[in-house]
Amino acid sequence: MSEKFVLPQLGFAFDALEAAIDAQTMEIHHGKHHAAYVNNLNTALESAPTFFNHSVEEIMRNINDVPEGIRTAVRNNGGGHANHSLFWQLLKPGGKQAPFGNLEKDLLSVFGSLDNFTDIFSKAAATRFGSGWAWLVLDESKKLQVYSTANQDSPLMQGHTPVLGLDVWEHAYYLRYQNRRPDYVKAFWSVINWNVVNDFYTANK
Ligand code: MN
Repeated sequence: MSEKFVLPQLGFAFDALEAAIDAQTMEIHHGKHHAAYVNNLNTALESAPTFFNHSVEEIMRNINDVPEGIRTAVRNNGGGHANHSLFWQLLKPGGKQAPFGNLEKDLLSVFGSLDNFTDIFSKAAATRFGSGWAWLVLDESKKLQVYSTANQDSPLMQGHTPVLGLDVWEHAYYLRYQNRRPDYVKAFWSVINWNVVNDFYTANK
């Protein structure tokens, strides 16, 4: 039984992250941008409906199995759906305000200090030219890496599992921050739910 992809509930109020991200941006970002990725993914897969039997994460991990004629549309819109579905969960209000447990230990081991990790991630976010995402991932060797991707490309496409991601498309911050992407990146650190990040890390390590 094939089911089309659906826009996930946000799970919190549009103004819940007001300290860092304004309510209007959240409403448009979730209800218009993310919704469009879901709708466009469904439209693209109409010609290859067996893919509705897979999760969007599975589809992204095996993007080269998607028929060539729709692969770019699935890469862009499936990536958009997967990336945003993760992003909203990471921003869920509450939770610990800093890395802890094994994730903290492994961040210290790889990056030397949490400040250095924060700097490297923030730089990846600030210097991504045009639209894209900054990521903390577990790579194919289960090692932590920070990098950015263009457009809606997902780390899943190269066999990596994202544990933290930041959307740096202008639609994510322009209403409040205009051209000041670094200010948006700085504010992001105040609304990360590290319990959720830790759960993704533990589940995939
Ligand atoms: Mn976005």
